[in-house]
This record gives sequence, structure tokens and C-alpha cells, in this order.
Amino acid sequence: METAEIRRRFLDHFERNGHTVVPSASLISPDPSLLFTVAGMVPFIPYLTGQQAAPYPRATSVQKCIRTGDIDEVGKTTRHGTFFQMNGNFSFGDYFKEGAISYAWDLITRSQADGGYGFDPAKIWVTVYHDDDEAAALWKRIADLPDERIQRRGLIDNYWHTGQAGPGGPCSEIYVDRGPEYGPDGGPVVDEDRFLEIWNLVFMQEEITDVKAKDDFVVVGELPAKNIDTGMGMERVSYLLQGVDNMYEIDQVYPVIERASDLAGKRYGKTHEDDVRMRVVADHIRSSLMLIGDGVTPSNEGRGYVLRRLLRRSVRAMRLLGFEDRALPELLPVSRDAMKAAYPELESDFARISTIAYAEEDTFRKTLQTGTQIFDLAADQTKQRGAVTLAGETAFKLHDTYGFPIDLTLEMAAEQGLSVDQDEFRRLMTEQRERAKADARAKKTGHADMSAYRELRDAGPTPFTGYEELSTDTRVRG
Ligand code: ATP
Ligand code: MG
Ligand code: MG
Ligand code: MG
Repeated sequence: METAEIRRRFLDHFERNGHTVVPSASLISPDPSLLFTVAGMVPFIPYLTGQQAAPYPRATSVQKCIRTGDIDEVGKTTRHGTFFQMNGNFSFGDYFKEGAISYAWDLITRSQADGGYGFDPAKIWVTVYHDDDEAAALWKRIADLPDERIQRRGLIDNYWHTGQAGPGGPCSEIYVDRGPEYGPDGGPVVDEDRFLEIWNLVFMQEEITDVKAKDDFVVVGELPAKNIDTGMGMERVSYLLQGVDNMYEIDQVYPVIERASDLAGKRYGKTHEDDVRMRVVADHIRSSLMLIGDGVTPSNEGRGYVLRRLLRRSVRAMRLLGFEDRALPELLPVSRDAMKAAYPELESDFARISTIAYAEEDTFRKTLQTGTQIFDLAADQTKQRGAVTLAGETAFKLHDTYGFPIDLTLEMAAEQGLSVDQDEFRRLMTEQRERAKADARAKKTGHADMSAYRELRDAGPTPFTGYEELSTDTRVRG
């Protein structure tokens, strides 16, 4: 089943059941506390928290999402993209657990001939919050699931809140068993590919306060109006229904892998290393396309820095695959063609989008080669000394002079079995920032790249997850 059809069936199903179809919001989050839209519920936050009255009791959408916190998973797990589409249904004080569970169960198990997705009910497992007897009983009654396939989980996995005082509630996740060739039996286990999480149903039912940590807060009472917020990963359903191994092989993504493989003269499916690179290329090109489409441009901070990193990583991955020419003019149009059925504006706006992307590649190409040589030399010298840590000064120079995002340097170092002296890097970044401030006081000046510094400071030893970790894990993670 094509992704376009999966999308259509989702929206039709919920529209027939009284939901208003709401178009996707921009990837630039409408909620100012988030850098990107990371979930289908983000545009509905004012209605879900009760700040504003919802204009409709039920809504459904296919929301474009970016989760940069998942960037390191790309290509390694089968199920994480930096860009993906979350299909959701929402109830604002209207139906609650029973409605959410029966709408979801109906859509996933109804036969394909009859407009559903046609999953085999025997392969479905669900999780519920450990004391949510109500949800467990509903799963039993509506879906007739055996007890073994209704698993109970604690606060960390199955409780949702925004990270601050306000609404909260248990959630229930739906998994598909992909079979013994993907791992051991026994039900959903975090970070394994056998039991694939496809859908998360959040039941906002109570008011909480004093959130000290994800699992440390106090429930103060029931919400007057209970809400439903669900998110189904469209790419995940696509790869299951398209009978392919992972989300990079679906119709909306795979054409880029094919083109990258042709260009590089490397066969996809031959070595794990090259496969991961091709998946990174296909994922990052698609995310970049969608980000530029929504008005993001490469820069040294915030969203622009995320975009810059995605573009530069894909260019470098093509180099590692052995392709040294300009890659984006070959790949971006392929991604556009794979995505334009759902997003026709990508075609009408392509002149603008491509000009921005190609210019970024050209800028990076000017420094990539010299920067790589400098890196290689430093890495060799480090190893010859018998050391395992690359000097922070090298990382700083690569960043400052050659435009290597710090995490690119970290990634290159890791490939050589090295770490990077990030304390020194941070110190040099701070010094530079102070210098820039002083300069700015004297005269208005351009370059003061604080974003990498800020990301490192916020994220500690794993950079580049600062904002998104907040957004995926505390705000909207279920
Ligand atoms: P996972 O545990 O696999 O990382 P999650 O629990 O973080 O997923 P939710 O926040 O519950 O995901 O989002 C709802 C749904 O969106 C998930 O059930 C999944 O199908 C999909 N999804 C989440 N993150 C991604 C991603 N990076 N790429 C593709 N689909 C995703
Ligand atoms: Mg996740
Ligand atoms: Mg999960
Ligand atoms: Mg989840």
C-alpha cells in the first residue's frame, strides 16, 4: 500500500467518524517553546491544555515532524527518521479511552478490501500504564487481546505530561510483532526492532503539579475535560504494509537511496556500513527538503544550524560512499518527486528550495577537503602519540575555519576510535564568543557562533540533542 493511500485511509477513517481534517502545521513549531514541530499534538497545545476553546470537538491530521534527537538512530535502527509524518486523532473533551482504542483498533485490523490497514490481530501487542485497569479492560473487550499481549509499563514509558504543571495522563502504545527473524519473543522491549511501536494513544485525564523529573510529580485531581491525543508513525506503517525492512525503503524515501547507490557505484544491501550511509543520505536529504520548504535556511544557530548539519552530513556521507561531485543537484529532485504527491508546494517552490540547498553544498565543498586533511593529520598524530582524545583546538579550528559542525567532528573522531576534548572546545568557543562580543561593542560584527556551544553546554557529552531532547522526551513523549 502506497504511503499516499495510508494517509488517505487514515484521514477518511477519522473524518467519517466526525473528525475535522486539519492541514499539517509548519515544521517551524507554532509553539514558541519548541524549535520544531515534534508531534501531531503541537499545533493543538492551546486546546489540549485548555488555554483556548477548541473550534471543533474532534480533529485529525497528518503532521510533518522533525526530531533531531533521533539523528544518531538514523540508518542504524529501522524506525527513526529525522523527518517523519505523525498521523493523529484528537478529542477535546469529547470521546475518551474507549473511543480512542476502538477507532485505532478498527483502522489497523479492518481488512484492506474494506478500507483498513489489514494487520493480523494476532500480531498486535499493546502496553498500558501499570495502574490503568480501565485501558487494559477496554483492550480486552474491544480487541479481545489475551493478557500476555496487554503489557503494563511504568511512569517513564507510559505516562505523558508536558514537563510542567498542567495536564497529564497515562498512555497506551500499539506494537506490531514483525516475527522471530527480527529478535527474541516476549513482547515489546525498548530499542529493539522486532516489536515495532506504531501508535501512541495518550489519555489526558488529570492535573499534575510539581514536575521535578519525568517520573517525579504529584497528581492533584481529575481534569474537568478529558482529552485524547494520538500519534501513529506513518512511515512505520508504510514499511510494514510495503513489506520492506525499514523506513528508508518506503516509496517516499527509497528512490533517493537508489540514486545515491547509482551515483556512488555501490550496491545497496551489500555492506552494513554503506547501507547506513545511504539511509543517512536519503533521510537527511528529505528532512532538508522539507525544512527549506517550510522556510528554514542554513545558518549557524537554531533551526538553521540543524538544517546546515543535515545537509553537510549528507554531503559527507556521499563522499564516504565514493561520490565526490556535487551531490544535491542529483538527489534533491529525486526526493522532491517522491514527496510531491503529498506536498505539491515542493514542486512549485523548488527553484527557491534548490538554490538554497545547492549553495550550502557549494560552500561546504570549498572547505570539506582541506578540513578533512587537517582532521586526518590530527587524528594520525593523536594515535601515534598513543592518545585517544583529539585536541579541542583541532575541533575548534575545523568549526571556525572550515565550517565543520562539532558533531561532524565528533562523528569523524568516533569512526577512528577517538574522542574529542570537548571541554577545551567549549572553552575556545566561549573565548571566541567573548571576543566577538567585544568586537560587536566596537563595531557590528558577523560571526559569533554560539549554537554549537549552547548545544554542548545543554546536552553534555552527547551534543546536538539539547532542544529536541526536551521536546521529545518531556513535552510530547508518551
Ligand atoms: P520510539 O520509542 O520508537 O522512539 P516514541 O515513543 O519516541 O517512538 P512517540 O512520541 O510516542 O514516539 O510518537 C508517536 C509515534 O510516532 C510513534 O509511535 C512512532 O510510530 C512515530 N515516531 C516517533 N519517532 C519517530 C521517528 N523518529 N521516525 C519515525 N517515526 C517516529
Ligand atoms: Mg523516540
Ligand atoms: Mg516509544
Ligand atoms: Mg511512544
